[in-house]
Amino acid sequence: KQTALTGSALRLPPLPSPRDLIKLYKLRARKQLSQNFLLDTRITDKFAKSAGKIEGADVCEVGPGPGSITRSILKRHPGRLIVIEKDPRFLPFLQMLEEASQSRMNVVVGDVLSLDMSKMFRESLRLSWEDTCPDIHLIGNLPFSVSTPLIIRWLRDISLKQNAWSYGRVRMTLTFQKEVAERTVAEANGRQRCRLSVMCQNWCDVKHLYNIPGSAFVPPPEVDVGVVTFRPKIEPTIKGDFHLIEKVVRQMTCFRQKYCITCAGTLFPEHLRKQLSHKMLDIAEVNPETRAFQLTMDEFQRLVMAYEHLCSDQPKLFKYKFSSNVDEDVWMEDEDATTFTSTSN
Ligand code: SAM
Repeated sequence: KQTALTGSALRLPPLPSPRDLIKLYKLRARKQLSQNFLLDTRITDKFAKSAGKIEGADVCEVGPGPGSITRSILKRHPGRLIVIEKDPRFLPFLQMLEEASQSRMNVVVGDVLSLDMSKMFRESLRLSWEDTCPDIHLIGNLPFSVSTPLIIRWLRDISLKQNAWSYGRVRMTLTFQKEVAERTVAEANGRQRCRLSVMCQNWCDVKHLYNIPGSAFVPPPEVDVGVVTFRPKIEPTIKGDFHLIEKVVRQMTCFRQKYCITCAGTLFPEHLRKQLSHKMLDIAEVNPETRAFQLTMDEFQRLVMAYEHLCSDQPKLFKYKFSSNVDEDVWMEDEDATTFTSTSN
């Protein structure tokens, strides 16, 4: 069976389909890499379309696997396509597309979690942060175990305008387990509101576009998959150092249903807990009986400022790390605390 990718700007020669290639190479999805493939062209075309207009743009696809989404992206005529795949078994599949793509596509075998994208795209595409979004797109259907740590890492990079975001407000289109996709867009008071909601919405305008049923994947996962787009904001809603915000949001949402005064207590060592958690909520003018999932972005901003104020009085406080598993207090290693302590000292 042959498939042909055609288009006015780019015409790929007829190629064996990813499904046939998987059979030909006797490839089995690797459980430890959570490999579930999308092989239905209608679904991969819709996914590539979700990224918006990519014609002429630089696109980076993360986790292309056998390359079905890659083909759908190529059909939309990007100026350049870079794919980053961790599993070298897919190299022949991807090299076949690379050769057919008239030098528009490059394959990188590597781990997206440690990849530096700060020089990956065309220099001519760099824009200032306040400008419109540059013609650069990050697209990926990654394993669930990778997509959540990846988006947190990328939010940090967005906050620092580094990595791909040294080119400006680069947009992303990613998949998550459906329930996680719902969390990324959950508002205060919503059933799914959690740390991820606050973090994603602080630095990005987030849209949960649609779901793909688990049955559309080979092999099918037991869950459905949500497609989410992220567009970095010019100004985050909660301002401040990423690690400081991350710590306050993490601790203030650590017990979803409890009063936020209990959550605030986890920011402070046992002997200061009661006094400082009340002081922090007092300064922030937050009702101690608000539940974690009810906290608004404005309240988070005030909580971050209040915690920063307390840490600037006692810089060692920022190193305190609550652990529910041990009775003793745990203090972060210096490197975990560097960003904040260096700015606060
Ligand atoms: N995008 C393909 C599709 O939709 O058919 C494959 C999806 S599969 C869920 C995820 C792919 O991401 C696999 O090919 C896997 O090897 C790759 N992958 C997993 N972790 C990765 C990482 N850290 N960096 C780059 N690729 C990764």
